[in-house]
Amino acid sequence: MQPLSKLTDRTYDVAVIGGGIIGAGVARDAALRGLSVALVEKGDFGSGTTAGSTRLIHGGLRYLEMYDFGLVRMDLREREILLRIAPHLVKPLEFLIPFYGASLWFRTKMRVGMALYDLLSYDKSLPNHRMLSAEETLAEEPSLRAEGLQGAAAYFDAQVSMPERLCLENILDAERQGAFVRSYTEVVAPSRGKPGSYGQSCS
Ligand SMILES: Cc1cc2nc3c(=O)[nH]c(=O)nc-3n(C[C@H](O)[C@H](O)[C@H](O)COP(=O)(O)OP(=O)(O)OC[C@H]3O[C@@H](n4cnc5c(N)ncnc54)[C@H](O)[C@@H]3O)c2cc1C
Repeated sequence: MQPLSKLTDRTYDVAVIGGGIIGAGVARDAALRGLSVALVEKGDFGSGTTAGSTRLIHGGLRYLEMYDFGLVRMDLREREILLRIAPHLVKPLEFLIPFYGASLWFRTKMRVGMALYDLLSYDKSLPNHRMLSAEETLAEEPSLRAEGLQGAAAYFDAQVSMPERLCLENILDAERQGAFVRSYTEVVAPSRGKPGSYGQSCS
């Protein structure tokens, strides 16, 4: 662990409070851009919401319902970047949404949504979606209830089974780029521009 004096003895371009996946990514990005960075985490790196997430790297299919195409495009690009830079942690994951008692309107909406999701990720490495008949769905998932099955939509997103590790790898890379990083160090009273405003809760 780096000594606290390295934090208090100088000023930094960027101070990141919290070593979850967001703080870790921000610290790495800023350090890669040549900024001096200090990141402190009051517990273990990645132990907050990052550890409690559903662990999906998704483009936000549901955001299409809000017509937030810019956000979906950004998320889909990030998904692709993560698949490329962390293939040991981020893996493709196929989803199957079976339709039971779904109206024609709902199925049409799903079809359009899936096509849009593909369009917004036109440069992706993952396969495009597929709309399956009831027979095709059962052939792929024989354990599904056949009665009333209308078909399914199959599409790809990605999964990070260990987001804590992805977080830690970002932290380690930030440190490699010269960032000061320290866990078990809580920011108690930040005050801009004044060194020495960090308090260590435990070590
Ligand atoms: C149930 C659930 C499921 C989710 N599923 C997904 C998903 O599948 N895919 C997805 O992309 N996103 C998902 N999310 C969202 C995602 O988990 C969060 O957006 C992400 O983890 C937030 O990361 P973070 O770094 O901002 O927060 P955190 O991981 O919570 O990190 C914040 C850190 O700040 C530290 N901290 C706080 N105060 C201080 C202080 N004063 N001094 C020092 N350190 C401090 C905390 O200890 C913590 O470690 C989900 C969220 C929830 C709640």
